[in-house]
Amino acid sequence: MQIFKVGGAVRDRLLGIPVTDVDRVVVGATTEEMLAQGFRPVGADFPVFLHPKTGEEYALARTERKSGRGYGGFTFHASPGVTLEEDLIRRDLTINAMAEDDQQNLTDPYHGQRDLEARILRHVSPAFAEDPLRVLRVARFAARYASLGFTVAPETLKLMRQLSESGELQALTAERSWKEISRALMEDQPQVFIQVLRDCGALKELMPEVDALFGVPQPEVHHPEIDTGLHTLSVLEQSALHKQPLTVRWACLLHDLGKGLTPEEEWPRHIAHEHTGLKLIKAVNERFKAPKDCQELALLVGKYHTHCHRALELKASTLLELLQSFDVYRRPQRFEEFIGACEMDARGRKGLEQRSYPQADYLRGAAQAAREVAVQPLLEKGFKGPELGEALKRERLKALKAYKDKASA
Ligand code: ATP
Ligand code: MG
Repeated sequence: MQIFKVGGAVRDRLLGIPVTDVDRVVVGATTEEMLAQGFRPVGADFPVFLHPKTGEEYALARTERKSGRGYGGFTFHASPGVTLEEDLIRRDLTINAMAEDDQQNLTDPYHGQRDLEARILRHVSPAFAEDPLRVLRVARFAARYASLGFTVAPETLKLMRQLSESGELQALTAERSWKEISRALMEDQPQVFIQVLRDCGALKELMPEVDALFGVPQPEVHHPEIDTGLHTLSVLEQSALHKQPLTVRWACLLHDLGKGLTPEEEWPRHIAHEHTGLKLIKAVNERFKAPKDCQELALLVGKYHTHCHRALELKASTLLELLQSFDVYRRPQRFEEFIGACEMDARGRKGLEQRSYPQADYLRGAAQAAREVAVQPLLEKGFKGPELGEALKRERLKALKAYKDKASA
């Protein structure tokens, strides 16, 4: 049997960037031979094994044939007769379809190295169009390697468009999609992921609520970039520049969905978009079964981001309501993420990226002032149950009034 490194390990070594996970392909072996060498079988669908010591993945070389809809709609054929070239041709991109042996001799039948040098993401064969997950993968690679100058080949984008228009994206499970989306959002240029999905018509299929933001104007005084879709891309870009966590990036993507519902005659104003957007945010959250913390933050940011922008003008009682809604006493981290997302929203405006955002520290200070109100003296005064809650609220309101006075002095 012969063993080759394949996929990302080869690609990233040639690009000179750190290799994180190593995939290997085994040519000329049977399942029985692998088991006899102590490899542990994984995966019900294909013959993939884990190395007994390193735990790394070894897959038997295989061919595949389309047999149904969606990512799972394939039948596989693995046998010792399957060649390396046959295995590589079923892969998505030429830069992912190279193999090397342990002397780093490259096997590159589909010219991945040429495309690496030309900075092109190009499909290997027309069979690319058989798996809708590849649309998401290519958009994710575009986001990951955008800073190196990579773009999607026009003929690959065309196949991605065909896949999107065929309705096959609907066959992807929430889990598969979320895995790609969440990884893409954590790349350096997550806005490129959304842009590429839009360019091939996939955004309209996957997140029509986000797609609908393109072409929707906002008032130029607040939003020099005007277009709500472009603004959303900039907010995402800022979230990556500022190394925000996934929860924040997800919230950034969805914060303005309500603006897509504004009747044209009200443009460029978007009265109450925070509220109209909530049901859309909920729908997108549920479509991809986003993790609970992502769902929660996206809804809170959608509902309250304009509160944050107006923080310095809010009455003490409104400030208190905001802090209570976030349960800042028990969930300080979530409130910090909220502030982070709102700051990205403010910075995601053309020409205003560097403008300071004093609202952030102001709200942090307010949360601190409310948190410092001690319960003990109220207990000592004999407050219990709901009355204790009310007394605590009164004290917090007092503290916030004092905080406001001090801040405006
Ligand atoms: P990463 O650095 O993200 O691990 P990778 O290219 O190694 O990137 P993997 O998901 O680990 O990506 O997959 C390993 C290889 O398997 C890919 O390089 C590609 O050749 C192939 N591959 C994975 N998923 C698909 C798919 N859906 N369609 C075609 N080929 C795929
Ligand atoms: Mg890999």
